[in-house]
Amino acid sequence: MASQDEIFKKIVSHAKEYGFVFPSSEIYDGLSAVYDYGPYGVELKNNLKTYWWKAMTQVHENIVGIDAAIFMHPKTWKASGHVDAFNDPMLDNKDSKKRYRADQLIEGYIEKIEDKINKEVEKASKRFENFDAEMFKSTNPRVVEYQVKSKEITQRLANAMTNNDMVDLKSMIDELEIACPESGSRNWTEVRQFNLMFSTQLGNIAGEESILYLRPETAQGIFVNFLNVQKSSRMKIPFGIAQIGKAFRNEIVARQFIFRMREFEQMEMQFFVPPGTELEWYERWKQIRLKWHHAIGHPASKLRFHDHDNLAHYANAAVDIQFEFPFGFRELEGIHSRTDFDLSQHANLSGKKITYFDPEKNESYIPYVIETSIGCDRMFLAALSHAYTEETLSDTKGEDSTRVVLKLHPAIAPVKCAILPLVKNKEELTTKARQIFKELKFSFNCQYDDKDAIGRRYRRQDAIGTPYCITVDFETLTDEMVTIRDRDTLEQVRIPISGLKEYIAEKVSMDKILAE
Ligand code: ATP
Repeated sequence: MASQDEIFKKIVSHAKEYGFVFPSSEIYDGLSAVYDYGPYGVELKNNLKTYWWKAMTQVHENIVGIDAAIFMHPKTWKASGHVDAFNDPMLDNKDSKKRYRADQLIEGYIEKIEDKINKEVEKASKRFENFDAEMFKSTNPRVVEYQVKSKEITQRLANAMTNNDMVDLKSMIDELEIACPESGSRNWTEVRQFNLMFSTQLGNIAGEESILYLRPETAQGIFVNFLNVQKSSRMKIPFGIAQIGKAFRNEIVARQFIFRMREFEQMEMQFFVPPGTELEWYERWKQIRLKWHHAIGHPASKLRFHDHDNLAHYANAAVDIQFEFPFGFRELEGIHSRTDFDLSQHANLSGKKITYFDPEKNESYIPYVIETSIGCDRMFLAALSHAYTEETLSDTKGEDSTRVVLKLHPAIAPVKCAILPLVKNKEELTTKARQIFKELKFSFNCQYDDKDAIGRRYRRQDAIGTPYCITVDFETLTDEMVTIRDRDTLEQVRIPISGLKEYIAEKVSMDKILAE
């Protein structure tokens, strides 16, 4: 069986071969951690955005959207803390000349300990009947030792990160004898802070005042517009503001395809609540967001909550929704209780009053904020890697016995149906198929395809995740019926052409998953 590493490589090359994701400016050998979306990629990405946008703004009466500019007044980033503190700790290996994030090296070490624990548990589970994993973990001396060690390192890392203690991060790397994965040496530089914001210049004015930053998150565009939105749309607290847009981070180590990019897209929602109620809302939003992931077909076993070990200075609770990517469980979405930090900071630095008068309480206050923030590209990778399936078919019904199929939820699939005349050089068939295509194209993203044998055409549609293939054959010409093939079950049913639109609409509709 292929390893997860091999599967990941296959997903990356599949994404390129079938027009989902290309390396940016590839003819110049690409640009590190920047990617372009191809014809099917853009469709899938747009569908994911629509799913998120509708789930936020259409489903919730009290959430509205905005689309703020990427450039913002430089003081925004001073107020938000990004100029002073949006840093990652980095160090170089002097032999390989490779650059790393100190926290990630230590996290990698912790992961290895966790792997050892899992291996011990797996081994023991095979040895004993009626095996109780929890009991084993709390009594087996070796596992207990591993757990203590993992906990100690996690805690020390969290403290060092919270206190910006670069010296201790370096000591940890030395003490744990962490070596460079490339050179194998422990010949490290000191650890230093690196600011992740990209900067540029406004007009032709020189100096500090004209430095502009490419936004590293979309959230600040929402905070600075809080009063504009609240007043213009007459929103009453609790209410939310949603936004989808580009964000930029000069990541120190950008690996793992579109998981960590330097230019990416975020889907963020800030929910404004009365002070004191934020933790209740925080719990509520955790559940709502998890359901959103389940509804698109991502199973509970691939998603989990991971509480933050070190809270940012402005947060009083923070959790990640992690997804099991081919390279392990990693952050897909963050849910943060951000207190009144951002609005207060903007009020201080701008000198403008940013408060809300609560008619029910008859008082003014600065609202507290719950934020849900998901990377669109990471969601794309989650959907793609979950959908990617290599299959050997037992009952091939005349098709090849192996296939690669993207089992995407029909509501997000780039192409909803393909219309295929059984053979290409029979004009009656192609004309009929084209006629069906013309009727359906106003309702769905469809494809007409008459190249190659029918089996190969099915494979092409499987590879891009098209949930339905409609075949037009000779009988169609007399009985006005077509065969519709289900991508996942391969079941073929004959239905009248007049019922096609309704049949497909029901299957690919987003309404049902939104209602969930
Ligand atoms: P990480 O710890 O992985 O760097 P983060 O905690 O810095 O992520 P947030 O600032 O909480 O991330 O951003 C919210 C979301 O934006 C993340 O959950 C992720 O989905 C997405 N995101 C952040 N950085 C990147 C990136 N470089 N490339 C792609 N998506 C990203």
